[in-house]
Amino acid sequence: MSLSDKIRRLKTEKGVTILAHYYQPLEVQKIADVMGDSLGLAKVAKNEINTPYILFAAVKFMAETASILNQDKVVLSPELRAGCPLSNFINPSVILEYKSQYPKAPLIVYVNTTAQTKAAADVCCTSSNALTIVKNVAKDWKTDNILFGPDKNLAAWVKQESGLNVIPVPPNGNCLVHNQFSIDHVHEARAAHPGAHLLCHPESPIEVLRQADYVGSTSGMIQYVETHDIPAGFILGTEIGLSDHLQDKYPSKKLFPLSSDAVCRNMKKITLEKILLVLESIGTPQESQFEVRVPAEIAEKAVKSIDTMMRYS
Ligand code: SF4
Repeated sequence: MSLSDKIRRLKTEKGVTILAHYYQPLEVQKIADVMGDSLGLAKVAKNEINTPYILFAAVKFMAETASILNQDKVVLSPELRAGCPLSNFINPSVILEYKSQYPKAPLIVYVNTTAQTKAAADVCCTSSNALTIVKNVAKDWKTDNILFGPDKNLAAWVKQESGLNVIPVPPNGNCLVHNQFSIDHVHEARAAHPGAHLLCHPESPIEVLRQADYVGSTSGMIQYVETHDIPAGFILGTEIGLSDHLQDKYPSKKLFPLSSDAVCRNMKKITLEKILLVLESIGTPQESQFEVRVPAEIAEKAVKSIDTMMRYS
């Protein structure tokens, strides 16, 4: 029996739903019950899980979000060391510092943050709904000043699109996968694939976003590829896992990564072997070493930021 077949059999036997992010290796994507981006997976984790276990194939903060939303379930991670360097740019002390400088400004944090950071923020957002959230929060709080962290590029894009005074918290937070894109990458890709549409994730630098035919979240890019017939193809300015996912789903479409170096090493720490190990541990004393559990008092506060996000989006 193949590794994938063993995983499929065990997850059914042990009552496990496997959620996987689009940046996962293709073989992991193929054994997942649900694929999604941060917002999609958060919604599934909140409303649609009816198994006692959730196995989250992604970086750790995503498993934490599932735990915040499902305190009655056991959330397991195949690799607890799969962190997100972007999330490390902000923490409750940074939030307090900015809140004391701008006491009347709401503070919105990207979902790519720890449970403690979410608990200290006013509202959460994802790249899918950041613009809508910022506009609605500004209207409700009756202010043009919005504190937004930790991604400076997403903050700059939301500022440009909303016309509001979006202040990056801190000034230099970035995702090393998307922040590496440059105008040179754009020129090279456009020259290599004339006529192809350039789709960029808003964690990319603003000068790159200004060159794009479409700026949007991972799910937004998927929808764009699904609904546009562009014979020259699509250049994807995001992590290469999305190109793999779309090429597998639409073999006749032409898909090109903006840079083949756009690899999130943390997302790629998840392997089929590690997933099998977690499934085999369920019901044994080893199970707890894979568990991600956000303490109830932090989860209660963090869930408010996530619920407020769901309400505003
Ligand atoms: S791609 Fe960037 S934001 Fe996403 S998990 Fe990796 S480092 Fe974090």
